[in-house]
Amino acid sequence: MGRILMYHNFANSRDADGDAVLVDDARAQLAYLRRHFEVVPLPVLVETSISDSRLKDRVVALTVDDGRHNFYECFYPLLKEFALPATFFVVSSFIGGEDWIWTDKILWLAEQPCRPDALDTDMIDHFFAELNEMRPAVRDCKIADLATLMQVEIPPLPPQKYAPCSWSELREMADSGLVEIGSHTVSHPILSSLGEPEALWQLTESRSQIERNVGRKVDSFCFPNGKLGDYRTIHFRQLQDAGYKRAVAARFGLVNRSSNAFDLPRIGISGRSDLISFCKDVDGAGYYQWKLEAALGARGA
Ligand SMILES: [Zn+2]
Repeated sequence: MGRILMYHNFANSRDADGDAVLVDDARAQLAYLRRHFEVVPLPVLVETSISDSRLKDRVVALTVDDGRHNFYECFYPLLKEFALPATFFVVSSFIGGEDWIWTDKILWLAEQPCRPDALDTDMIDHFFAELNEMRPAVRDCKIADLATLMQVEIPPLPPQKYAPCSWSELREMADSGLVEIGSHTVSHPILSSLGEPEALWQLTESRSQIERNVGRKVDSFCFPNGKLGDYRTIHFRQLQDAGYKRAVAARFGLVNRSSNAFDLPRIGISGRSDLISFCKDVDGAGYYQWKLEAALGARGA
């Protein structure tokens, strides 16, 4: 079975929320993977896990979401050090400097001293779930209203922690042969909150913006948020129509012969994953525990 790892943020030192993976921890993780697994580009993993009869058992692909500069600064040097490939899913308007990612604006608001209860650590997932169901214009109004209520102004440009890579940095990484650039839409909407034409536009427009600016074909896609309910089966057909060959989600799981190439599960890694839980999830023990809990009804199957 194949494992697709999902990263988001990296840092040189511990940040306030502990979500970013520290460079030293990432180095230890890559060393473990190199010792015990074959780390391959995502397209190769999908090909060998789903359609190739010579299925390899211990294959891993690395993926990183969103397009933030901390990937270039902290993780890309490690990929070069270990000579390992990764796929970087970028939000095209974010790279183009048109806006920063709306989910990061919420996280930024949650860091402010005057945050309301809805943005407390144990409440914020509920708040995100509420916003995920709104159409983007309604959602943006809600975010603006929240900032007004908190009497803070959301900066027009993202603070350093949330800053994007530039197109030239993406080109440099793609040219190294180590990094595949994939699409993560134009503006990170939850696809199920959009009408079909809008969703298709997000798929086609992001692909053409990235291809135009990076100079390489874009085959891989990543669903924003990527949990059950954030996308629908219609989007699998739209992805094919838009020219993609595979898509990753954010639900937990391993890739096997029965996996859908447009609905690939991943294993999320954050700054909260210590090396033991990392190894447990990558080795598959975490997966079997999850399956067992589901079978026993602990997760409602
Ligand atoms: Zn994302």
